[in-house]
Amino acid sequence: MNRAAPPYSSRRLALQLARHALRSPGTFVQRVNGANLAHWRDARALHATCNICGHQGPLLDEMLDLQPCARHHIRPARETLRCRGCGSKMRDRVVAAALLDMLFDRGIIAPTIEALADVLPTHIRILDTDANSRIAQRLRHHPGFHRSLFLPGHANGENLGEERLFNIDLQEMPFRDRYFHVIITSDVMEHVRLVDRAHREIARCLRPIGEYIFTVPYDETLPRTWLLVDPETDEDLVPEPHFHRDPEIRRQGIRSYRVFGPDLVDDLAAAGLTAEFVPITRPEIGVFDGDVFRAALAQETSEHDGRALPGQAAKAAAQGGNARPSASEVVASS
Ligand SMILES: [Zn+2]
Repeated sequence: MNRAAPPYSSRRLALQLARHALRSPGTFVQRVNGANLAHWRDARALHATCNICGHQGPLLDEMLDLQPCARHHIRPARETLRCRGCGSKMRDRVVAAALLDMLFDRGIIAPTIEALADVLPTHIRILDTDANSRIAQRLRHHPGFHRSLFLPGHANGENLGEERLFNIDLQEMPFRDRYFHVIITSDVMEHVRLVDRAHREIARCLRPIGEYIFTVPYDETLPRTWLLVDPETDEDLVPEPHFHRDPEIRRQGIRSYRVFGPDLVDDLAAAGLTAEFVPITRPEIGVFDGDVFRAALAQETSEHDGRALPGQAAKAAAQGGNARPSASEVVASS
């Protein structure tokens, strides 16, 4: 199968579409239609260099079902436009671009995540809340790279059998204050029940010179964040709940609590984070209108951030005086 129709090839896509036609012919036209065929052709004509694996060549548009994308306020290109080398979708490369840019600003220069694995200083601590992401796959052996999942049936902070791989409830992060230089969440926060609490925890665990890099389903035309589930009662507020794909952990998908609106920035400010929406268009890495947020601790202070990143100027900002030990801290002080 892999030889005849390699993953992320047009031939493999044709097989998947044929299977789709047999299993649910009713929804076939939502994938195979004029608009999607044009997207597929455009992606095939591109020549991009993946900023995760370095693969060069055309991308693959998988002709996603457009209806759920519209219903979830997610642009289809974000969830496809696959690199034919590592399979990264556009959203993966957008997060990688934000991470590489953030490190570049601090004097750590790498064109791809693959290359970053060789040059990332050992004292830098990064948390990727998608333990299986393509970024995590390449940085997992770095001594400061932590990966997390949130699995039902596991204790908060429990080690999941690999080095620096933890079960983490973002509403109560088992890390000491100011532990991470970078925290990454890629389409995670819409699934967190008490998101304001999670934002405060992220702020607490972030170093003053660090950055919180994240993507969420975000629609700036919404008047405010659209609640799909009541976070207090956990009851659905919409007739058709939004489930996002989570094939490696939850076969039925994972329920989404919200689609974020522009008030997200105010909510982050209340948690002590200054966030900026960063639209990224870089055809050379196969990113068009990519949506990512970069956030840092808001309060400027003169406090020195211990061990700064190389090349780091005074971008330091600190939270000020709320250092508190965490009862279930899994990470020893260093
Ligand atoms: Zn790639």
